[in-house]
Amino acid sequence: MGLIVQKFGGTSVANTEKVMNAANRVIDTYKKGNSVVVIVSAQGHTTDELIDKAMEINSNASKREMDMLLSTGEQISIALLAMALEKLGYPAVSLTGYQAGMYTDSNYGNARIKSINTERIFKELDKKNIVIVAGFQGINKYDDITTLGRGGSDTTAVALAAALKADLCEIYTDVDGVYTADPRIVMNARKLKDISYDEMLELASLGANVLHNRSVELAKKYGVNMVVRSSFNKDEGTVVKEVDSVEKMIVRGVTRDDDVARIAVLGIEDKPGKAFQLFSLLAKENISVDLIIQSIGREDVKNITFTVSRTNLNKALDTINMNLGLLGATEVKYSDKLSKVSIVGAGMVNHPGVAATMFEALYDASINIHMISTSEIKISVLIDAKDAEKAVNFIHNKFKLDQIVE
Ligand code: ADP
Ligand code: ASP
Ligand code: MG
Repeated sequence: MGLIVQKFGGTSVANTEKVMNAANRVIDTYKKGNSVVVIVSAQGHTTDELIDKAMEINSNASKREMDMLLSTGEQISIALLAMALEKLGYPAVSLTGYQAGMYTDSNYGNARIKSINTERIFKELDKKNIVIVAGFQGINKYDDITTLGRGGSDTTAVALAAALKADLCEIYTDVDGVYTADPRIVMNARKLKDISYDEMLELASLGANVLHNRSVELAKKYGVNMVVRSSFNKDEGTVVKEVDSVEKMIVRGVTRDDDVARIAVLGIEDKPGKAFQLFSLLAKENISVDLIIQSIGREDVKNITFTVSRTNLNKALDTINMNLGLLGATEVKYSDKLSKVSIVGAGMVNHPGVAATMFEALYDASINIHMISTSEIKISVLIDAKDAEKAVNFIHNKFKLDQIVE
């Protein structure tokens, strides 16, 4: 007996049958004497459809109004799940982010949770209610609705699990765990029995959208017991935890991220302070930069090439073009038909040759590498988007990720 947080993603509550299925999974846990707090996402593609609706009316809508709109998807789901539980004879109450005490900053569209007032939830649990909370949403200091960024319901679930000191946080989704690669693009991807917080954080940040990266950050910070499992079968799922003691793999997974665009600023004066100028201009516009390379200066000029998220491409280009004179640069080029493909594994640090093996896989696939970046537990390459699926498959095979290494 304990307190269990369960989160059901969009596919898991996509229609009446799936809402009833989720309700039954909740009841199984409740019947064992547990207190249950359930977080739900918007049904199916609701969030995308809401975005489309907004775009039809105003493609430049304010972020505040976007959040007002997008938060409605989750509100539908909480009410429907509460009704399903009621119908099945179990006491349930639905709460919006506001009612559940989820306070965030005011960064509409990508807000961060600042604090959670758990009073109402505990009051409802004391009454033996199953508490259903809208994922992805919160409230800021102006009492306005905010959202946590795409995929943010995972973060609601983990944050609540931490605040309520839950015994377990179960993420129910449409795959039965975390795989060595997205099982939709790599046929022989293998389900991992467990994965460390650090590796999962990298995978999630590098494109494995099975978990929202901030949810993993919070799980690590607060030591939340977390498991990713299917809402459609009773398989064990993947445990995300501090120390990974079961499987020994050098490379844990391969991911792709298509939200990347490359900008090359050419003919910059080769003198101190130019990189500083360029990147502080971008920082002032709140644009994060990822991979960076600077060419060797020739004839007193150099080129700086870097990547940004596709959503920031136009803003970055405008900013640079307006400051070409200041930078002493001659030309700006860009491409947004690129993908970042990465491998992640905590064991890489002690095994030389991992990068070479990854590059060999890309050579075998005749794929050209545009940029490379490495850290202790990951290696990323920038390649043409059209090659990304092939790259992930070749890399997955090269490292034999479909096989368990003893
Ligand atoms: P939910 O709506 O339940 O939050 P998401 O669509 O956000 O579900 O996340 C689940 C999806 O993540 C899967 O359908 C799968 O295609 C994708 N995915 C990407 N990388 C991985 C991975 N390494 N392991 C499992 N699933 C992955
Ligand atoms: N409904 C939101 C989205 O589609 C949040 C989530 O599903 O986690 O991004
Ligand atoms: Mg998700």
